[in-house]
Amino acid sequence: MNSTIHQNLQRVLSSLPNGVRLVAVSKFHPIESLREAYESGQRIFGESKVQEMTQKYEALPKDIEWHFIGHLQTNKVKYIVPYVTLIHGVDSFKLLSEINRQGEKNDRVISCLLQMHVAREETKFGFSLNECRQMLAEEEWKKFTHVKICGIMGMASNTDYENLVRDEFKTLHDFFCEIQQKHFSTDEDFKELSMGMSHDYPWAVEEGATLVRVGSMIFGVRNY
Ligand SMILES: *Cc1c(COP(=O)(O)O)cnc(C)c1O
Repeated sequence: MNSTIHQNLQRVLSSLPNGVRLVAVSKFHPIESLREAYESGQRIFGESKVQEMTQKYEALPKDIEWHFIGHLQTNKVKYIVPYVTLIHGVDSFKLLSEINRQGEKNDRVISCLLQMHVAREETKFGFSLNECRQMLAEEEWKKFTHVKICGIMGMASNTDYENLVRDEFKTLHDFFCEIQQKHFSTDEDFKELSMGMSHDYPWAVEEGATLVRVGSMIFGVRNY
């Protein structure tokens, strides 16, 4: 295969060390582009809109892992729970609780990442470190039988200032270690640190990412 998407994908993959998995962020790109990536071996795709992800899920082979990486509204959880593999953006107890409820209805245990807000931008969703500490300390989440907290997700500030971006990734990594020790020390499924996008994923990998979410570097610029 010789397409641009194939080449881009291979370039990104060859830059990742063992143990770091690539989420190919395909939001706003047409099915044909995802098919090209699929044919070149990619099996994990990231989408940020419920309807779009569901349409793509229906159109494409069933061995794809669908990761939801966007902001998820509680009233839309029910549409993705039947097939989603990992929800990266859990940013409230209420959302976690709704995912658990829908997981139960579908007889599935849904893997989730807690989204942390560490970037400077006001607009990014996520728990503050203290909000997350508090939610975990309250232990209500331990009663949920149909969600599995597998780690955390975050975004660094949108800047080329390397020190700032690395500091934010370090903060995420430190927090991951903190809550792993405190709440998940016997839980082998708590192992994912999702951080890094096209412009900053090499730094994220160096700071301990296990999942990187790369879109435009594979599929080109989005029209949105
Ligand atoms: C769009 C998006 C990405 C991918 O961004 P690129 O710059 O295209 O690599 C990663 N993570 C999240 C949460 C996104 O919304």
